[in-house]
Amino acid sequence: MLEIDRPKPASDLLREVNDQIRRLAGGLGEDISGRFVCECDDPTCLEPVVLPLREYDTRRDSSSPRIVAHEAA
Ligand SMILES: [Zn+2]
Repeated sequence: MLEIDRPKPASDLLREVNDQIRRLAGGLGEDISGRFVCECDDPTCLEPVVLPLREYDTRRDSSSPRIVAHEAA
């Protein structure tokens, strides 16, 4: 049987996607808002999260750095 890498949790992948969006949006200016994706554990959740880039940075630096569109279950 082949050993395969365990896939990353969806929230890790979503965080990478959001960080990428943050980088790209940052090139357009720091005062705009980015359209991020919800990082909750529900793989079917596709809620958009529209956040000013500054707010995104603030959340990433906080003690609960996950970007979610709704209250975490
Ligand atoms: Zn969600």
